[in-house]
Amino acid sequence: MAVQRTFSIIKPDATERNLTGAINKVIEDGGLRIVAQRRIHMSRAQAERFYGVHSERPFFGELVEFMTSAPVVVQVLEGENAVSRYRDVMGATNPEEAADGTIRKLFAKSIGENSAHGSDSEENAALEISQFFSEADIVG
Ligand code: ATP
Ligand code: MG
Repeated sequence: MAVQRTFSIIKPDATERNLTGAINKVIEDGGLRIVAQRRIHMSRAQAERFYGVHSERPFFGELVEFMTSAPVVVQVLEGENAVSRYRDVMGATNPEEAADGTIRKLFAKSIGENSAHGSDSEENAALEISQFFSEADIVG
């Protein structure tokens, strides 16, 4: 598998508890390189667009509220097989089901406030990266 990029968000529950550095350490120890990173406060429009695939889900309103409640850190991660590697580094969506040593097991508060986002496919990674970064922002 070639070097790949994935898109990551360190979510509000984590930035609020000053966990950006701790999460970045887990990312780097997991073999991924942070090749772009910016701290932003997401607008409602940005969050609604980003999570558009979930717009019919019962938790959509709560999810948009949460993602706009405090700053987030948007990132591009690079490495071998980065999309699935980062899913492994994050752990299961529900922290109660996440494996030991994963970001969500270590830090997540709940299934909603689960500290990190990672793309679920290479195609979505490219779309998500382009929502927040231009190619010139990414330094590999
Ligand atoms: P993400 O897309 O954030 O990386 P994921 O791919 O593991 O997470 P998804 O099914 O795509 O999970 O859900 C997106 C996000 O919506 C979850 O990370 C979580 O914050 C929130 N979410 C998912 N299921 C629930 C739920 N049952 N109740 C509340 N929030 C939820
Ligand atoms: Mg997802």
